Amino acid sequence: MWSTASAFTVELRSQFRGLHERSGVVFRGPSGWGEFSPFANYSVQQDAYWLEAAIEAAYSPLKFPDNASIAVNAIIGDVEDCIEATQRAIDVYGCRTIKLKVGLDSETDLQRVHSVAKLLAASFPGEQIGIRIDANGRWGLEQATHVLGQLAGLPIEYVEQPCRTESELLSLRRRIHIPIAVDESIRIDRLDSVKEFADLAILKVSPLGGIAATTRMAERIGLPVRISSALETSVGLSPSLLAAYELAPDAAAGLGTGALLRTDLVRETVVPLKGRIQVQRVEPDPSLLASHAPQGDLISHWRARMEAAFELIAQPTRELVDMEG
Ligand SMILES: [Mg+2]
Repeated sequence: MWSTASAFTVELRSQFRGLHERSGVVFRGPSGWGEFSPFANYSVQQDAYWLEAAIEAAYSPLKFPDNASIAVNAIIGDVEDCIEATQRAIDVYGCRTIKLKVGLDSETDLQRVHSVAKLLAASFPGEQIGIRIDANGRWGLEQATHVLGQLAGLPIEYVEQPCRTESELLSLRRRIHIPIAVDESIRIDRLDSVKEFADLAILKVSPLGGIAATTRMAERIGLPVRISSALETSVGLSPSLLAAYELAPDAAAGLGTGALLRTDLVRETVVPLKGRIQVQRVEPDPSLLASHAPQGDLISHWRARMEAAFELIAQPTRELVDMEG
């Protein structure tokens, strides 16, 4: 596997989730390319799931549709100017669904949601638009109740992980009418209980171990799902597009994150066109792979991480892990 692998580092357009760049490894198998780019704070157990996803992408005969696309949302980070970013999402990418990161102070959060709603409504008069807000568990119960209570009349599709704990989510669900989506709260060892405190589940293909693993998880959770990216390059995004096409073809997927990349492993980054992305395999451009190769230390870092993860996959029992939002 390592013989066909290339380590890479690509830059983000602006800071997102505290990151300025993404780094990892892509490798080629008989079916295509897999991307192993777990986040820096991941444990070896989490790395192992990601590696399974990359191996599935490279070695399984995944069946991509001939000519199909899915709608995606644009994503706006919490340090971005939301007006400028929404305008770009509409003008450049044609997205009618915007996912907005919140979880700052209540007034700022409210202002940002209202600004996005106003711009969307003005750009698509009379048409279907949607806003997804993601607090990444940063609101307490009272703050969540306060903020969400003031969004009546806005096209809020759902609020993602408004609070951190299950008990807060349970209480909040009794207080508000906005559907609650969860991602950080989904625990692999407690899938059956998710529908007690949530209306939708956000699933990320790479951290979950691939399309087959994500499909099994969706079945066990028993809720509508939205497939979201883990900030992969265009190469790593491709299996997630297929999962979204298979598991939630009529909903906007959270896969518009190519727009966050300043540099990429392909000439034309996978970004939405008229709000949609083609569901297809993506191969890295050899010259870009070469020019985005990191320095020596990082190459050995990735080799060691991949080897440790691979060793764990080979073991019969694996520890259960919490997932990353
Ligand atoms: Mg989230």
